[in-house]
Amino acid sequence: MAFQCQRDCYMQEFVTSVVACSPGEMKQEINGKKETVKGFNVKLQDTILFPEGGGQPDDHGLIGDVPVLRVTRQGAEAVHFVSSALEVGQEVQLKVDWERRFDHMQQHSGQHLITAIAESMFGYKTTSWELGRQRSTIELDTPSMKPAQMEALEVAVNEKIRAHVPVAVQVLSLDDPALEQVRSRGLPDDAAGPIRIIDIEGVDVNMCCGTHVSNLSHLQVIKLLGTEKGKKNKTNLLFLVGNRVLKYAEKSYSTERSLVSLLKTGPDYHVDTVDKIQKTVKGLQKSNLGLLRDVAVLIAQNFKSNPERGNFFTLHKKEGDNEFMSIIANEIGTEETLVFLTVGEEKGPGLFLLAGPSGKVSELGPRVLEMLQGKGAGKNGRFQGKVNSMARRGEVETLIQEHCKNEQ
Ligand SMILES: [Zn+2]
Repeated sequence: MAFQCQRDCYMQEFVTSVVACSPGEMKQEINGKKETVKGFNVKLQDTILFPEGGGQPDDHGLIGDVPVLRVTRQGAEAVHFVSSALEVGQEVQLKVDWERRFDHMQQHSGQHLITAIAESMFGYKTTSWELGRQRSTIELDTPSMKPAQMEALEVAVNEKIRAHVPVAVQVLSLDDPALEQVRSRGLPDDAAGPIRIIDIEGVDVNMCCGTHVSNLSHLQVIKLLGTEKGKKNKTNLLFLVGNRVLKYAEKSYSTERSLVSLLKTGPDYHVDTVDKIQKTVKGLQKSNLGLLRDVAVLIAQNFKSNPERGNFFTLHKKEGDNEFMSIIANEIGTEETLVFLTVGEEKGPGLFLLAGPSGKVSELGPRVLEMLQGKGAGKNGRFQGKVNSMARRGEVETLIQEHCKNEQ
């Protein structure tokens, strides 16, 4: 049995009745977290909401005013997951989320077209495909594809669209001899009953359960974005069909406008300008690092030349890294002097180094960690690590100072 959405892919509303409704649950990813949503599994007499299959995602829509969150296939039946219960026997009005569905039809029929032409032009067979949220991918059975081939393929598929070639759906019984001439791709393992054949007139004949446009002109346009290295000896071809091409152009243009205003150059100069900026930043980072090292040496020398200096030195600097702290500690010498250094945000996260006589350091190190909410370890008179908050840095300083005084 085929669903109404497979008999008429353009039907957006449909009246049917509820055959079964039972409690169920659905796993959903919300903000990257997997959550289980409780609801009801509904079976209908017939449906215009396509359950996932053939590489095509499921439809969304409404049963009455109850949103359908997912449609799955169970053998020959479609199961609609909804959040509130529906009465069995009740007549209901179905409505498909047409924007989502038509987008899927464009991508799916587009895939059939690209697959057929890639095979007839270059002999590259399609081994799988994915209808993605942003872009879709066809996995071709070839280790590589030349840019010129991709260009020729793009020209050829768009020519077919301009030729407004009709697309027909035939339904054949499983024992029909005509079936043998049809390649089998994208047919779910649990497919039951008659087989659907998608016939792009004079271009391709293929088994498929998905929903398709009735004429290639409904695809509007196909853009092949590029290729990526796929699994072993395969190439992934990235493509957009129809409205997605328009959306992509709109987004690209908006990005372009933002870059024009940020970079103060026209689009043709964007790559060169960013390249120059990156090189400048690298140069600045390098010279900044050099200066920071020089500053570290000067800080240490300044401390050592002070006759009044005690046996404790401390410093906080926003900019700095482990090497900066290490240079200061090395220059000062930590056989007798206890050195406590931190870099990072005033009250936020950062790094610290505690260096000095090993007895004192191993005694004070864990207390520093605790007070600054840090993680770290130490040996041979050096204790260092990362901290979450510098808020109690002043208290740590007092603690170490007290400790040094008591020793004298
Ligand atoms: Zn298909």
